[in-house]
Amino acid sequence: MPASPPPSPTRSGPALALAKLGLTRPEALALHLPLRWEDETRLTHVARLLPGQTAQLDVTVAVNRVAGHGARSVLHLTVTDAAGDALALRFLRHYPNQAKAWAVGRRLRVRGEVRGGLLGLEMVHPTVRLLAEDDPAPPLPTTLTPVYPASAGLPQAYVRKAVEAGLARAELAEILPPQALPAGLPTLRAALAYLHHPPADAPLAALAERSHPAWQRLIFEELLAQQLSQWQARREREQRRAPALAGCTGGAHDALLAALPFALTPAQQRVADEISTDLARTRPMHRLLQGDVGAGKTVVAALAALRAVDAGWQCALMAPTEILAEQHFGKLREWLAPLGLPVAWLTGSRKGRARAAQVEALASGATLIAVGTQAVIQEGVRFARLGLAIVDEQHRFGVAQRLALRQGEGGMEPHLLMMSATPIPRTLAMTQLADVDVSTIDQLPPGRTPILTKVLDDARRPQVIARVRAQIEAGRQAYWVCPLIEESETLDLQTAIATHADLCAALPGIQVGLLHGRLKAADKAAVMQAFEANRIQLLVATTVVEVGVDVPNASLMIIEHAERFGLAQLHQLRGRVGRGTAASACVLLHTPPLSPAGRERLRAMLETGDGFEIARRDLALRGPGEWLGTRQSGAGILRFAEPERDADWLDQARATAIHLWQHHPAIARAQVARWFGAELNWARA
Ligand code: ADP
Ligand code: MG
Repeated sequence: MPASPPPSPTRSGPALALAKLGLTRPEALALHLPLRWEDETRLTHVARLLPGQTAQLDVTVAVNRVAGHGARSVLHLTVTDAAGDALALRFLRHYPNQAKAWAVGRRLRVRGEVRGGLLGLEMVHPTVRLLAEDDPAPPLPTTLTPVYPASAGLPQAYVRKAVEAGLARAELAEILPPQALPAGLPTLRAALAYLHHPPADAPLAALAERSHPAWQRLIFEELLAQQLSQWQARREREQRRAPALAGCTGGAHDALLAALPFALTPAQQRVADEISTDLARTRPMHRLLQGDVGAGKTVVAALAALRAVDAGWQCALMAPTEILAEQHFGKLREWLAPLGLPVAWLTGSRKGRARAAQVEALASGATLIAVGTQAVIQEGVRFARLGLAIVDEQHRFGVAQRLALRQGEGGMEPHLLMMSATPIPRTLAMTQLADVDVSTIDQLPPGRTPILTKVLDDARRPQVIARVRAQIEAGRQAYWVCPLIEESETLDLQTAIATHADLCAALPGIQVGLLHGRLKAADKAAVMQAFEANRIQLLVATTVVEVGVDVPNASLMIIEHAERFGLAQLHQLRGRVGRGTAASACVLLHTPPLSPAGRERLRAMLETGDGFEIARRDLALRGPGEWLGTRQSGAGILRFAEPERDADWLDQARATAIHLWQHHPAIARAQVARWFGAELNWARA
């Protein structure tokens, strides 16, 4: 193999490829760990070979033959071992000088996968090392050979050299006091040395599963570094200032609480208190309010908004879609109008003078509460005194945070409350969400009946339609959701329109409405209002109904081609029913054959109605990057630790991080710098 040049300061070719992978600091190189290892520590004989096995042998070339011409020629070698047993080697790509160098009589060390060929055993494209005439059996390595993640333009041999050099130069002295670490783990330097070059008899299963103590040391170090940097981000936030939104008794907050037709559940009460406590502080709140669909987050948000109002500050409530924003607006108006509080309503479709007057009232501070889509509020509205920003159904936390910050004025930053109906598993929240406190509504309001879920072949459609009719005749309402067809919004639309027509024909005397993304906002609103008022009994819709729609009289949800939906999405859709006291059902229609992933999702829907369990399974099916929408940025993705698998250590890492910052800040800083170097910023994204 050609010798590779050392990484050059000009960063061309492989050096540039390494830099692109972020592999420039010696410490980063030392932490670039192998994907797997190859065992080049032993030799075997032809007589011992089995098909499928990877083996290494010292052999002599007996036959050297090139078949065919030019680019399509094939090099055939027959080689023999010391016992005289023969093995065929085949090279579909080769260079003329290779055919020449591997001449009859030359000694080779070959390594590759053994195949049972037509004419006996063979290796296709083995790795070949030409042995020197005067050194027919050079010593074997004593450790396993690492195979690194590489990329185009970055040969394995080059990476090995660079990592070797990084490992030699990296500053790896122990900086953590032993009591900060779980017992029985090797030093960092020993762990890295082991993982780059495990001994020949290393336990390969423990290495592959990352349960080996050397891996465990790295996993704990990584969790600790991450918890340290999150703590640091939190401390920085604590230095920033926000208005103290302390309540006053007898204000709008208390008035709403008194006027509500229901009492808060204990869970709602608890999270409302957590939020109130945060709001009363002079440092900005960053809180995620999570609760399963129907858990009653809206009223908690409204109470938080009134904390701001009572303190004389403004609150913006933002939602990702107009339909959802409109629902929030409707709810808030219903609750706040009797208290004499105007609510501004701002969406893309609202233009002209009505909008101008509202924007002006927010800029002057005359109106204290605004509801609208995120895009409109964040881009087009100025607030006189924004004290609280509430963002509903926002999974891209980093984005939400940055946008809220931009609203800050006079050195004051508004408090931020994010709401999500897709509960984030605790381990993921602890590792991936930098600097966010989590409040969970873990209880549904009373009187809800569990939703019966059924998975049915699309062939049973007529029975499903009969069931829809029976429900509607009993005074209930139903949703019929058509899937999003990814490549074609038009097809998607056609399906919804065709389904609507079919159902109108199949259900005479029943008002069937249609809701899809191409409708004008005003038309969407009109359809939703008609459905809310039960002037429409069956609502055919594309996934626009997914988030937040609240019509308690709807008790039946039909989802067509359910196998095409994501798990979280299915759970959200199912959560549109079961909001009243009537027994509710969700029918998942599917068209066989199912893909394995599609089958898994439907199974999960049948097996559990618990949003947390759904979220865990969704996470397992999709992986954290895609799940949080951070896949592109790569931000916050752990390299060695896996939150679910390593959950046991997470608490220890967090406690240790807090202890280190409080008692040994220099150690804490050194640990963060070692792991993240200049790339520290992801923790605050
Ligand atoms: P989500 O958490 O999914 O946003 P919502 O806030 O839309 O849920 O609440 C679902 C329904 O439950 C609404 O009709 C709401 O008025 C009602 N609700 C909320 N809290 C309670 C409660 N404590 N008791 C009874 N009904 C409640
Ligand atoms: Mg909601």
